[in-house]
Amino acid sequence: MAQILRVSNLVDTRSRRLRVLNETEPPAKDKSDRPHHPPWIRAKLPSGKTYFELRQRVHALGLHTVCESASCPNLGECWNEKSLTIMILGGLCTRSCKFCDVPTGKPLPPDPDEPARVAAILSELALAHTVITCVTRDDLPDGGAAHWAATIRAVKQRCPDMVLEALTSDFKGDTAAVDVVLQAGPDVFAHNLETVPRLAREVRVQASVERSLRVLAHAKQRGALTKSGLMLGLGEAPDEIRDVMRLLRQAGVDILTLGQYLRPSRQHLSVERHLPPEEFEQLKQEALAMGFAHVESGPLVRSSYHASNQHDLVAARRSAAKQPGQA
Ligand code: SF4
Repeated sequence: MAQILRVSNLVDTRSRRLRVLNETEPPAKDKSDRPHHPPWIRAKLPSGKTYFELRQRVHALGLHTVCESASCPNLGECWNEKSLTIMILGGLCTRSCKFCDVPTGKPLPPDPDEPARVAAILSELALAHTVITCVTRDDLPDGGAAHWAATIRAVKQRCPDMVLEALTSDFKGDTAAVDVVLQAGPDVFAHNLETVPRLAREVRVQASVERSLRVLAHAKQRGALTKSGLMLGLGEAPDEIRDVMRLLRQAGVDILTLGQYLRPSRQHLSVERHLPPEEFEQLKQEALAMGFAHVESGPLVRSSYHASNQHDLVAARRSAAKQPGQA
């Protein structure tokens, strides 16, 4: 137990907004710093007993979450339902994507105790479905694949029935590293394309669309249930969205998420357009018609938002995988 509770050197990876909330630092007075959202974007400051208890437990275990690090607008809603997305491999990312609020830096080596702590909190929460993600670790020879596998195995051991989605980096296109993750048995293998090819270089500076599609196609060829996500509102044209959805289908992606890009701070890319909810619904119908098995689409949708809606898909797959005559 003492080993489980040992925590790594902590970096405060919470968003700028959350670092202010409930802390001694006074809130910003300059209203021009605040984003102007249309009425359908309702990002409330998180509050509530369950939220604060979960926050305390996450921090006591020295864990990071993308919910806090990426300034997710759904933090209050999700955490009050005990739904969170743990971010493994530390709190510093080796890449510097222009949409993302996770700090860039030189990370520490992976903490060998982290898998056990992740498994501990997920078993306490007794969730039916969870998403785990990571910072990108281009500094590691395997991109963090072995640590991923250790985490998946630790979680599967403590929570055998829970549906586990691994939202990974592109491992610099190293398919052997992808195989290491897949062999640990995540129920869903996810990797986000984030944007359309024309904007990719500006949005995901060190990534490439072709490489991401290759990683997804490889996971699909290995038999995984695959998932990807796009942020909309970065300046892409409607036909570019349709084209990239087709590319994802060609790579065999099963599950798609479409959400509105929200600027975490003035240092990040601007929002070029707020798509109304009806447009998200229209895109969802088009995506389903293209053959995606499940689509979550809406202004506040994130890769992990309402991810438990995919539970049936995974359950059907698990049951199909059982040999006739097995219990
Ligand atoms: S949508 Fe995902 S990242 Fe956002 S708060 Fe919910 S679980 Fe966390």
